[in-house]
Amino acid sequence: MCIACRNRESQHSLIRIQFVENRAIAYTGSGRSCYVCRECGRNPKRIRQITKRFKLEEEDFLKLIKELDTDG
Ligand SMILES: [Zn+2]
Repeated sequence: MCIACRNRESQHSLIRIQFVENRAIAYTGSGRSCYVCRECGRNPKRIRQITKRFKLEEEDFLKLIKELDTDG
C-alpha cells in the first residue's frame, strides 16, 4: 500500500523504501519497509505530504524516489 495515497497497487508499480533515522533509503532487504507508488513519486504535493509526515528532507527524498523510479 502506498504511504501517500493509500492505494493498493501491484508491487510492480510501487517503489520500496525504508526509513532509517529520519532518512528514507532504498530498501536494504531487512527491516521494516514501506511503499510509494510511482504516481505519488511524481506528484510534488504527495512528496511534500510524505516528507512532512516523516520529517524528511524533501530534496533527499525526491532524489531517492527519482533514483528508484527507473522502469516506469
Ligand atoms: Zn500513491
